[in-house]
Amino acid sequence: MMESQIKAIHQKLVKKEISCSDLVKEKLNLLKPNTHNTVNSLLEDYALALAIKVDEKIANGETIGLLEGIPFGIKDVYMLKGTYTTASSDLLKNYKSAYTATAIQKLLDVGAIPIVKENCDSFGHGSSSENTIFGAVKNAINPELVAGGSSGGSAVNVAKEFTVFSIGGDTGGSIRQPAGYNGIYGLKPTYGRISRYGLMAYASSTDCVGPIAKSIEDIRIVLNVMSGKDVKDQTTYVSEPITEETIASNGSVKSVGYFKNFIKSEAIDPKVKSDFISVVEKIKAKGIKVKALDFFKSDTLVSTYYTLAMAETASNLSRLDGTNYGNRIEGDNLKDSYSITRSKNFSEETKRRIVGGNQVLSQGFSDEIYLKGLALRDQISRNFEDDFNEVDVIISPVTPGTPPKIGDSLKDPLAMYLSDAYTVGFSLGQLPTLTVPQGTETGLQITAAKDNDELVLKFANFLKDTI
Ligand code: GLN
Repeated sequence: MMESQIKAIHQKLVKKEISCSDLVKEKLNLLKPNTHNTVNSLLEDYALALAIKVDEKIANGETIGLLEGIPFGIKDVYMLKGTYTTASSDLLKNYKSAYTATAIQKLLDVGAIPIVKENCDSFGHGSSSENTIFGAVKNAINPELVAGGSSGGSAVNVAKEFTVFSIGGDTGGSIRQPAGYNGIYGLKPTYGRISRYGLMAYASSTDCVGPIAKSIEDIRIVLNVMSGKDVKDQTTYVSEPITEETIASNGSVKSVGYFKNFIKSEAIDPKVKSDFISVVEKIKAKGIKVKALDFFKSDTLVSTYYTLAMAETASNLSRLDGTNYGNRIEGDNLKDSYSITRSKNFSEETKRRIVGGNQVLSQGFSDEIYLKGLALRDQISRNFEDDFNEVDVIISPVTPGTPPKIGDSLKDPLAMYLSDAYTVGFSLGQLPTLTVPQGTETGLQITAAKDNDELVLKFANFLKDTI
């Protein structure tokens, strides 16, 4: 059986063991002291008004849906009409959403209650949730360590049970890595399964919306609600809902692969390595064939990802000029106003990426760098296609090392980029990838071919009782 927090709370609501208003108040009270710097803004009045409506329905004897009245968190990069959406930046500190993101709207439509906009790396730029104007997010297991990023606030809220589930965003690992650092589940679905409309764009070609939760079952429930084609995002596609029965049934995974060079790498922590090897042994012991696969070197993956991500973010953030959006700082003339607004309101890390991205895209460099990045990306995708002709799923550690102390990553951006070595490849391949809190200290990633999110959840369920 999979323990689902959503189902347990749903039962309590239906049996009137707790009122929805009390449930929401309880969670808000846990969030208010902001012990781990996870909170950018609380949606107190908004959430309580919705909770009262759920309580009225229950009092009237009406049936409520599974997610109705369930409190959840939203990474502060999603539009929710009328609420602050800051991307943890000075530039958008006072920005209020004019509309609601499709994924969030779908959750509202089934009655789930958003209670908090969650701290993260500014515009998704980071792997530690320290690049934020709201203070570094503290790790749920050891508060001296980073929460991971960029969806650090969301992961910690789930781990501490301040929210029942949270919606993160993953461009190059931002759901999977903080899920691993805080011992919970986090899914980056297949690119296009969930609409990006209303998610503040970082790198549009790899941006994914995804759930963070404490069980595979809760990941499944929330994924199903958010998935689907959306006319407002042309990269979306129609997908079948995933059933609980399919996930619970064993037996379809015959072969598993892992990347040799990830495990041979010098950068891998010895304990992460030995723990990963013992996972491989346990899988073999179940009669599943395990294959060591060839893959691109970590630094090739990281350079390809950052080349493309920086190029895309430089373009995406060009709209934030203090005229269309953002806190404007007046200069002597228009050009001056743009440059002062952007210089003063973007973080060091965001500026590093805008400068890098514009360089990559500029005349004389783009053929050498940007187009080369695109070509490598195609090769990476082809490599994955070949792999999935040979194996059903691929497993990998989530990170080469364990979470650093708060303050350390900011001193060394390059080391921070390299900590994304195991997550960015799957993003470039647009594959469904789940972090499970098992196997190594920072968990394991499970990946399958495109649109095979179901198989990923199924194998995760199998592993749960195997390792
Ligand atoms: N750490 C990676 C980056 O900074 C991934 C971030 C993300 O997925 N938003 O780009």
